[in-house]
Amino acid sequence: MIVKSACLTGIQQIEVRERELFPADDEIVVKTHAAGICGQDKNLFNGIIPPSGGLNTEMKTAFSYPYFFGHEAGGTVIEVGKHVRRFQPGDKVMAFAWVETYSDYFFAKEDELEPAPAGLDMDLLSLGEPIGCAVFSGLCSKVQLGDSVAVIGMGFAGQVIAQVVKRKGAHQVIGIDVVDGKLELAKKLGLDHGVNSSETDPLSAILDLTGGRGADVVIESAGTAEAVQLCNDAVRHNGVIVFYSWITRDITLNISRWHNNSLEIVNTGLVHHGIDQRHIWVPQALRPVLQGQLDIKPLITHSVPLAEIDQAMQTANEDPAAIKVILRP
Ligand SMILES: [Zn+2]
Repeated sequence: MIVKSACLTGIQQIEVRERELFPADDEIVVKTHAAGICGQDKNLFNGIIPPSGGLNTEMKTAFSYPYFFGHEAGGTVIEVGKHVRRFQPGDKVMAFAWVETYSDYFFAKEDELEPAPAGLDMDLLSLGEPIGCAVFSGLCSKVQLGDSVAVIGMGFAGQVIAQVVKRKGAHQVIGIDVVDGKLELAKKLGLDHGVNSSETDPLSAILDLTGGRGADVVIESAGTAEAVQLCNDAVRHNGVIVFYSWITRDITLNISRWHNNSLEIVNTGLVHHGIDQRHIWVPQALRPVLQGQLDIKPLITHSVPLAEIDQAMQTANEDPAAIKVILRP
């Protein structure tokens, strides 16, 4: 079949090409409803390639131009190969792997998809991967009733995590970002305190808000060395640092407090816990979305036709108000 897909042809060079593709016997053909742009997609667009091209950890193919990409998407199964057992035409599914989702149709193997929960809105199920990963992080963050929690980075994931930990009973959630608009939106959605770290020293702000103790739990969702360092500095004695981001460049940290203050480090990357764990956790992580306990729709700030992906990438890259940019084929 003829498929229209976006591919990178160089640093910040992207175009939509037509390809003739033939699904294999173990592949499922999905008609894309929408596809999301995430931080790692922006990194690839900007020429920041993970060591070893991310191969064996996350991405499906080694990196070279032209590179077809995209990993967040959902849609409807239109065809299955003869060896496929778990899916059939008409099923609503969510991509959970690098299956080149910036396409009008994408092909995936059984283990690269999760079935969408019945009744989930099509735009939200198209973001099943980033929502599922962020909710998983919040659920596994060890946040307890009454905790003070700092979330460093209020992009899509940080916003979702902040909502989850608040609903879990955090006494106060402090969001740190450099963009006022993201902090304002988060406050509308329940964040207690927003600190713009380009104007106010975030460490002093967190200490002030926690009576000088530091936060019980700090969650890293910005993906920078400064953010990780802030986690190390702003958590209380015996507190918990939660890692969410995938940082692919070398960074330098002072981790003296890991030892001296007996910190607990929790890694919350759902897609790396193994496929069996993913099958168990995805329905659990999406349940509060279906129940209306989390407010995700306002985080979709831009919706752009796939044909204008260059514009969409620029927006995701440069517009400080962009939280989640989605592409529609
Ligand atoms: Zn992603």
